[in-house]
Amino acid sequence: MTSDDKSTRHTARMVRKKAVIDAAIEQANQEKGLLLVLTGNGKGKSSSAFGMMARALGYGMKVGVAQFIKGRSDTGEEAFFRGQANVEWHVLGEGFTWNTQDRERDTKTAQAGWAIAQRMLRDPSIQLVILDELTYTIKYGYLDLTQILADIAARPAMQHVVVTGRGAPVALTELADTVSEIMDIKHAWRAGIKAQPGIDL
Ligand code: ATP
Ligand code: MG
Repeated sequence: MTSDDKSTRHTARMVRKKAVIDAAIEQANQEKGLLLVLTGNGKGKSSSAFGMMARALGYGMKVGVAQFIKGRSDTGEEAFFRGQANVEWHVLGEGFTWNTQDRERDTKTAQAGWAIAQRMLRDPSIQLVILDELTYTIKYGYLDLTQILADIAARPAMQHVVVTGRGAPVALTELADTVSEIMDIKHAWRAGIKAQPGIDL
């Protein structure tokens, strides 16, 4: 095949591709507040959520963050986002469950945290709500999944919600519009490298 032939075939293929993509764009014409679930054992769930947060803030949207489980308030994302206009930031956990070792206290903490999340899920001025590490509160039975699903389903029509955490329950992924499972292929931590500021926290 001459290079002219190759070029002609490439152009024809791109014309067909453009027609398919244009038709798909035409079809995707609805707007609604989305529920996104970022789950799986690989790294990148919370950092993806905070990437969307940066996008939303770039549009002048108001964003509310609720961090469950983690008690730490020294992460790079918190240092960066907390000082920004249009950000409401809540650290609701008291640390990892294997550190606290107190189920009753963890349950109370999670429930008090959910009351704050509920408030954000009822506030139409908050256009994006990030429920970071929420799945663990369900897994350990600190919060009731039915209640969580009901509150998320009843949120304002145009409000987006991002839930992160490993082992997302099926009922949550069923309710969601977009679900990504991040696969763990390799993590530096297993090679003995400690969590690196700017990358891991
Ligand atoms: P990130 O906040 O970096 O996007 P994540 O939200 O996907 O990570 P979490 O389970 O919340 O993952 O864990 C947060 C911390 O644990 C980060 O420091 C991250 O680098 C680390 N981590 C995430 N996945 C793994 C893994 N598979 N093995 C070891 N450490 C991990
Ligand atoms: Mg995370």
